[in-house]
Parts: sequence; structure tokens; C-alpha cells
Amino acid sequence: MGRTYLFECSKCGYRAWVAGGADEGEHFAVQTIACADCKALHDAVVRFKASTRLRENPPRTAPKFAAVLNRLPPRGALQWLKFKPVCPVSPLHCIRIWKQPDKCPRCGIFLEQNAIPFRIWD
Ligand SMILES: [Zn+2]
Ligand SMILES: [Zn+2]
Repeated sequence: MGRTYLFECSKCGYRAWVAGGADEGEHFAVQTIACADCKALHDAVVRFKASTRLRENPPRTAPKFAAVLNRLPPRGALQWLKFKPVCPVSPLHCIRIWKQPDKCPRCGIFLEQNAIPFRIWD
């Protein structure tokens, strides 16, 4: 079971809805990243379960979080496809792994994590 939390910056007001680190559900896994180009946090999909057919012709970049979240779980023989964490806006963006407690991508003070998950996914 994966969890998405709201993180808020008390200084600049930046808000992000992300896992806050590495998290995984039954069908996919995410890694929270801070993108220096977007000045934002994202959940990058780093692993998802794919059908054998998709595995033979895998996509070059990972699908976006919203896409795997809304996808119907594929049927049949499933195996994990793995991806390097990249910015979902552009794979050329400069990113780093972000793991709470960690800093605001805009102003650099620590973000506050909302205690209650915004969304639970699997
Ligand atoms: Zn901030
Ligand atoms: Zn970016």
C-alpha cells in the first residue's frame, strides 16, 4: 500500500502531494524526487508491473504517476519493469532523491508533512 501526503512550506507556501520518499503498492512503486529545473517535488514511477507483451517492447521513460494510478491492473503473466527516477516533466531535468524530512524545492526550509495521508493507493 502506498501513501500520498500533503507537504507544505510554512515560509513560501509551496505545497506538494507526494509520497515523501520511496513507496510502493501492489502494482507500482514511486520515488519522490526534487527537480531543480521545475523547483518542485514529483513522484517518479520507478517500477510497475507490466504484461509480458509490454516487457518485450518497453517504453523508454516511465509512465507518469497519474497514468499508473488510473490504469487498470494488467492481467496475465506480470513482471516488474524498472526505471531510473526522472522528472515526469522532462527526463533531462536535474533531479535528486527527496526523502522526508527534507527541504522545500523553492526556498530551502524543511517542509511540514501533513499527518493524515491525502490518498492511499495500491
Ligand atoms: Zn518554501
Ligand atoms: Zn522537472
